[in-house]
Amino acid sequence: MACLDGKRLADRVREGLAAEIERITAARGRPPSLHVVLVGDDPASQIYVRNKKKACEKAGIFSHEHRLPATTPQREVVDLVARLNADPKVDGFLVQTPVPRHIDPAAIVRAVDPAKDVDGYHPVNLGLLMAGKPGLRPCTPAGCMLLIDETGIDLIGKHAVVVGRSLTVGKPMALMLLERHATVTICHSRTEDLGAVVARADVLVAAVGRPRMIRGEWVKPGAVVIDVGINRLTDGGMAGDVEFDFAEKRAAFITPVPGGVGPMTVACLLANTVEVARSGIPR
Ligand code: NDP
Repeated sequence: MACLDGKRLADRVREGLAAEIERITAARGRPPSLHVVLVGDDPASQIYVRNKKKACEKAGIFSHEHRLPATTPQREVVDLVARLNADPKVDGFLVQTPVPRHIDPAAIVRAVDPAKDVDGYHPVNLGLLMAGKPGLRPCTPAGCMLLIDETGIDLIGKHAVVVGRSLTVGKPMALMLLERHATVTICHSRTEDLGAVVARADVLVAAVGRPRMIRGEWVKPGAVVIDVGINRLTDGGMAGDVEFDFAEKRAAFITPVPGGVGPMTVACLLANTVEVARSGIPR
C-alpha cells in the first residue's frame, strides 16, 4: 500500500501555478484575486476559509474575506454576489457553504457569474462538465482526479465506484471518471448490498460523510481508494469515510484523512482562480 500524500501534491500544484501567477501579475499590475463570502460563524467553515486564505498568500494570490452575520437576509447576500460579479478587480469568488438555514444555497449559486464561479458549482459549469466542454470544474472532484492520476493508473475500462451522489462531489466525480473512459457506478443511501458493489471497484471514491462506513474488507485488493469524507468525531479527532487501518492493507493506493483530498480541493480552487484571471490576457 502507498499513501497518496495530498499535501505534497497540493504543494506541487501550487508551485506549478507560480510562473502563471507572476505573468498575470506583471501583465495587469495586480495578482489574481479570490474573494470568499462567509455568512455566519460555522466553526468548520471558518477553518476552511482560513486555509483558503493561507493557501492564497503562499501562492501570491490576493484574497479577501467578506464576513456577514448569520442573520443576514438572503437578499443582502445576493446583492453582495451581484457587486462581486460586477467588480472587475474580483477574478473569482465563492460563498462558503453551509449557509444559514434561511438562505437557499442553490439561489446563491445561481446568482454567481459562471465566469467567476471558482467553486465550479454553477449550473452552467456543471452543464459544461456534463457536455464534456471546457469550464470551471468543481474543486473536490478535480482534486480527486489529480490524486488518481498520481497513481499512474490507466482509467480506460476500469471499474470506478463513487459512493455519494451530491451535486458538488459525487455526481461531478462520476462524470469526470466517465470522461476518462472508466466504467462508473454511483452508489447512494438506497444502494443494495453496498459492500458487494464496492468490492468490484478498481477505483473507489467515498464521499458520504459517515465515519469509517466503508469497511476495509470490502476493498478490492490492489484498488485505488480516494476518501473524500471529513467527519469530526466527538473525541475531537477526525475520520474519513473509509476504515483506513483495514483498507490500507488491501489497497494499492489510499488517501489519508486529513492530508489527502482536503489540500487538493484548495489547490484546485487556486488553479480555477488563476484560470479565470488568465482569461483575457494574451498568452
Ligand atoms: P452530502 O451529504 O451532500 O452527500 C452524501 C451522499 O452520501 C449522498 O448522496 C447520500 O445518499 C450518500 N449516503 C449517505 N448515507 C449513505 C449510506 N449509508 N450508503 C451509501 N451512501 C450514503 O455530502 P457531500 O457530498 O457534500 O460530502 C460528502 C463528504 O465529503 C462529507 O464528509 C464532507 O464533509 C466531505 N467533503 C470533503 C471535501 C474535501 O475537500 N475533502 C469537500 C466536500 C465535501 P442520498 O443521495 O441517497 O442521500
